[in-house]
Amino acid sequence: MKTINDFNFENKKALIRVDFNVPLNENFEVTDATRIQAAKPTIIKILEDGGSAVLMSHLGRPKGVQKEFSLQHIVDKVSEIIGVQVKFAANCVGAVAEEAVAALNEGEVLLLENLRFHNEETSGDTDFAKQLSTLGDVYVNDAFGTAHRAHASTTIVAQFFPDNKCFGSLLAKEIESIDKVLTHGEKPITAVLGGSKVSSKITIIENILDKVDHLIIGGGMTYTFIKAQGGQIGDSICEDDKQELALEILKKAEEKGVKIHLPVDVVGADDFANDATRKVISVDAIPDGWQGLDAGPETLKIFHNVILNSKTILWNGPLGVFEMENFANGTITLGHSIAEATEKGAFSLVGGGDSVAAVKQFGFGDKVSYVSTGGGAMLESLEGKTLPGIAAIRN
Ligand code: AMP
Repeated sequence: MKTINDFNFENKKALIRVDFNVPLNENFEVTDATRIQAAKPTIIKILEDGGSAVLMSHLGRPKGVQKEFSLQHIVDKVSEIIGVQVKFAANCVGAVAEEAVAALNEGEVLLLENLRFHNEETSGDTDFAKQLSTLGDVYVNDAFGTAHRAHASTTIVAQFFPDNKCFGSLLAKEIESIDKVLTHGEKPITAVLGGSKVSSKITIIENILDKVDHLIIGGGMTYTFIKAQGGQIGDSICEDDKQELALEILKKAEEKGVKIHLPVDVVGADDFANDATRKVISVDAIPDGWQGLDAGPETLKIFHNVILNSKTILWNGPLGVFEMENFANGTITLGHSIAEATEKGAFSLVGGGDSVAAVKQFGFGDKVSYVSTGGGAMLESLEGKTLPGIAAIRN
């Protein structure tokens, strides 16, 4: 795996695909700069080598040129974070971009206008990618969030740099973290899968059954499994047409020697609302009029023990409706368990959508080994898919 550490960027212009798709408020100010911060180490290494950085990114989903999606809005923020006054080119290809790149000196940073102002970006157009490729001596991909897309700047452009392409440090860290879990994870390996639906996690479950020793299933998915096994789930969320699949998963897990842990008790509610009446109920004896919205105390004890005995932990999806304060306890307690295991030496990776949001909201971000920056890209990695943006650098 070639990374920026395999290159010396002295007198070189690095064309870097970053993920600066950051949220902006109504005054076009950046409200969460995490993604800019995450790209900083790569940019700094290149500048410290004596090179210059040409940054390209998309922002939002513009239809053609729409000024509200201009990357000009974030120039000041990027400058503040990188510590260098960033220059801006009002187009990512053509004379404007080429002249700005030609004028770039070592130690300088240029941000190109939104790639998606050109439809050729998302269609993966080869000519457009070729134009981009003229803007740098070395191509660096540091955008994990778009690595699952075969777009011009994330994938196609790499073919014009047969020997001069590499991963930025953020993308390298993402790849290493996934490998640490799925390829050479230290045993016992435990995956915690929560969230709302079996159907959205099924490909992940199928892929990781070959990799893990323990699979903890929680959240809304629980009830499809429990009902399939003959339990009474009241009004809990359930995908009736996935019951057979749930039984198949349990059977496959047994054949492969994977221990599945399902909740034994839940926090039941008489309404899908934070102020609903709550009571702890056995997971397979939920009366009509009640629904399970969080993991119960016995369940959390069992999950805690499994987690504390694991050397590698993957967490995707909340254990309950954590957006409602009264049903967040399961997700928070699980976060504590994973933090404790990590402190004792386990490797823990949190990835994909809502678990990342939960980890940030409850302050576990720096208590786990790694929090992935890519939602869809992470999910596709866990499904065992080869991401085009990663393959393009490796090939
Ligand atoms: P996902 O996007 O599939 O990871 O699902 C995340 C969502 O699942 C969150 O918004 C949770 O509120 C929801 N969720 C978790 N547990 C339950 C539950 N027991 N009933 C309904 N929704 C749930």
